[in-house]
Amino acid sequence: MDPSREHPKQRDGFSSPRFAQPATFMRLPHVESPAGLDVALCGIPFDGGCSYRSGARMGPRHVREQSSLIRPWNSALRVHPFERLRVADCGDVDAVPVSIEATFAAIERTLAPVVEARAVPLCVGGDHTVTLAVLRALAKRHGRLGLVHFDAHPDTWDRYFGLPYYHGSTFRRAMEEGLIDGARSIQVGIRGPLYGPEDFDFHREHGFEVIRIEDVKDRGVASAVERLRRLEGGGPVYVSFDVDACDPAYAPGTGTPEAGGLTSYEALGLVRGLRGIELAGGDIVEVSPPYDGPGAITGVLAANLLFELLSIVALAR
Ligand code: MN
Ligand code: MN
Repeated sequence: MDPSREHPKQRDGFSSPRFAQPATFMRLPHVESPAGLDVALCGIPFDGGCSYRSGARMGPRHVREQSSLIRPWNSALRVHPFERLRVADCGDVDAVPVSIEATFAAIERTLAPVVEARAVPLCVGGDHTVTLAVLRALAKRHGRLGLVHFDAHPDTWDRYFGLPYYHGSTFRRAMEEGLIDGARSIQVGIRGPLYGPEDFDFHREHGFEVIRIEDVKDRGVASAVERLRRLEGGGPVYVSFDVDACDPAYAPGTGTPEAGGLTSYEALGLVRGLRGIELAGGDIVEVSPPYDGPGAITGVLAANLLFELLSIVALAR
């Protein structure tokens, strides 16, 4: 298959059952090179930056398997993403299980040809540490990006055991490194026990907007979407979706669960609300299969969130 001419097709569910064949994201072909693609789906199996229960290194395989049920038509957004876009599974970054820094280097090295090919990377982690290296790869092309960050946690803490990199410091480091624009950064779903009001000093200093979980629950998804929409037309935006933004009842398979989060329906609605916003890239992170329920509900949700992100990219073309 030459992806520069032909749109990669999902394996047909009417001639090969959805539970058959080696799993790829959304039953798309696996390709060795991102050349000619509009969107590159990549796995980043690394959880060495996780501060609590680990397992997110198994996320990409889990989401590949659970993405078998992704059919080609987004009936809510009314778009056929695989007809609008050339999309394929570009495999996994060969993360280095024992080194955050070496994993960052591997991520940047693997994504460089994706960025070079002007394909939009949509990555599946991995813990939230990996996002920093994805942003580094993208900022080389785009400069400072806007940010929509779904999470229970702000991930703007500073050092952990004296060290700069872990899944709780990603967006502080990204800001310091000039990868994101604070005035175009919005966090959604923040909640739970934190350390103190000073956890948000960083936000005030850099202009980060916070849409707390109460704002979503009390005023509704539409009101939150309205706030997100200020990013439309302001330049490329990165969307980082930590699955713990969702309630553990809907997404138990994660490393640092927080009670009282988004339902899966609210999460899908919030991502759909990004339609019209130009995405430079995105990720779904913190899916930890060992803690997922027997119905793989977190994996199913992550696969669907990935499909919604893909549909947003498709609608912007
Ligand atoms: Mn996070
Ligand atoms: Mn989190």
